[in-house]
Amino acid sequence: KHNRKPFVGGNFKMNGSRAMLKEIIDRLNTLELKNHVEVVISPPTLYIDQAHKSVREGISIAAQNAFNCTKGAYTGEISPEQLKDVGVDWVILGHSERREIFKEADDFVASKVAHALKCDLKVIACIGEKLEEREANKTEEVVIRQLQAIAKNIDDEKKWEIVVIAYEPVWAIGTGKVATPEQAQEVHVIIRKWLAENVSEKVAQETRIIYGGSVNDANSPELAKQLDIDGFLVGGASLTEKFIKIIECFI
Ligand code: PEP
Repeated sequence: KHNRKPFVGGNFKMNGSRAMLKEIIDRLNTLELKNHVEVVISPPTLYIDQAHKSVREGISIAAQNAFNCTKGAYTGEISPEQLKDVGVDWVILGHSERREIFKEADDFVASKVAHALKCDLKVIACIGEKLEEREANKTEEVVIRQLQAIAKNIDDEKKWEIVVIAYEPVWAIGTGKVATPEQAQEVHVIIRKWLAENVSEKVAQETRIIYGGSVNDANSPELAKQLDIDGFLVGGASLTEKFIKIIECFI
């Protein structure tokens, strides 16, 4: 594998409570990470401050969303500047639940990526096809369309250093139906090749492409062995003790 540092994100979605977060973080804080793997947890916004104050060094916090403006009359939204202000380093953008339930289109996601990067907020940019798109042989078309929208908004090549791409096939998210290691690897190669041809060879080699979709402690070791899988974005299992085992694939 190229010397990309493995990355494991935990997306808690709209789950948890103060007590549950404490339990999860107490467990994570026992991990000996030794700089082998970057670990980022993404609690609901309300709990970001609690998480930020209680995680040990080496574990970062991601918001689950951010808007594309600095401030103003946008009830319910949070800006990248505000996230930076409270010490948040990362944001997840373009998650399929945002795209589907909240109707976030490619261009809107891309504008949020651009604004976050302008603020030096690091971005976990999510892309992935739906089941009917895979069955219609449109996986590559969809994934590249989503990636292209994001890439065209990243004008400074240096900004790619703070971008992680999460390939998350929608049919695998929260369904218990994980992509096979071969299926995931195949799409990761397509993404990396596109980056090489359309951004640069350097960005293609250095950008972490992580897999998300029903990752658990049983399927993570085989997925982690794939040459172009640089880590995971974990939903459901990140709330449980399985998350530790998943991270340990890279230690
Ligand atoms: C996710 O929400 O990004 C995700 C991958 O969820 P799950 O692991 O539960 O499928």
